Amino acid sequence: MIVDRQGRRFRNLRISLTSACNYACTYCVPNGKRLVAAQDELSAEAMARGVAYLIEAAGIERLRITGGEPLVSPKLEAFMTAVGKMGLEDISLTTNGQLLAKKLPLLVNAGIRRLNVSLDTLDASAFRGIARGGDLATVLDGMSEASAAGMKIKVNMVPLRGQNLDQVMPLLDYCLERGYELRFIELMRMGHLANDSNAFLQQFVSLQQLLSLIGERYEYLQADAPVDATAVRYEIPGQGYFGVIANESVPFCRTCSRLRLSSTGWLHGCLSSSNRHYIGDLLDKPRHQALPALQRLLVKALGDKQEVAFSGGATVMKIIGG
Ligand code: SAM
Repeated sequence: MIVDRQGRRFRNLRISLTSACNYACTYCVPNGKRLVAAQDELSAEAMARGVAYLIEAAGIERLRITGGEPLVSPKLEAFMTAVGKMGLEDISLTTNGQLLAKKLPLLVNAGIRRLNVSLDTLDASAFRGIARGGDLATVLDGMSEASAAGMKIKVNMVPLRGQNLDQVMPLLDYCLERGYELRFIELMRMGHLANDSNAFLQQFVSLQQLLSLIGERYEYLQADAPVDATAVRYEIPGQGYFGVIANESVPFCRTCSRLRLSSTGWLHGCLSSSNRHYIGDLLDKPRHQALPALQRLLVKALGDKQEVAFSGGATVMKIIGG
């Protein structure tokens, strides 16, 4: 097992199945052009082999499938069928929910029981303004069908000053009523926001600001969360839970256990580092050749983690998937 001086190791793998996306969210894709799949994306089989090798070489226990938008990828079914047989503790998926209802049978059959659905507003016009793709009602229907099929749903909202702050309470109420757990994600200094402090600060909403807003209506208590959780979690007694992924306010680098693999075969040990390590060529090799080389790259990737706090990175969220 590869462990660093702070006792951190890779336990959670996030795979970006494709960089293609049917949205172009303002904070993620500033030029508004929808992303297409990269030409050199790995096949479903190569990605699944990557997961198998990483389970062995790094001790990966949990997998999250992300993107781009994973549900637009033609590789989805083959990939999920393959990773479903690998004995992972947990497989979950992050999606914008646009294709959720359509793909639900496939997800249920593949054993997915937990979904994170990104949704920044319940206002249809603000939705069009932020996501620049898709349709709000389709996402809401998709979540409701997934929930009826027994899926546990977390809703990810990025609060943005001037764009959707008025949606914090409506979204919280909506989620509490339906048993979804709302996760606010503090805006991260990623991609273009890493170099544009003004744009970042103009939009950024902190954990404290969110808590004061919520505190005007609800009493809440801090709740338990796993040691390597990214979110600070709160309980509203008798009503449900919400969380805040507070990259800026409560950095969680000291306990980070995440490893990321891009759709083109690059390992990222840290979102805040521009270092990445190519493993695409190892995935054609037999296990006994691939694993030692992979272990050397994993040592480097673990060394890329920040000591204390996320400081921003040129790495683009739309490619690597959050
Ligand atoms: N398409 C999928 C989705 O919408 O969930 C997966 C990819 S998307 C990049 C993953 C998550 O990253 C979304 O919840 C999105 O809101 C979030 N995200 C993108 N850029 C961000 C940023 N700069 N700061 C915080 N969250 C960001």
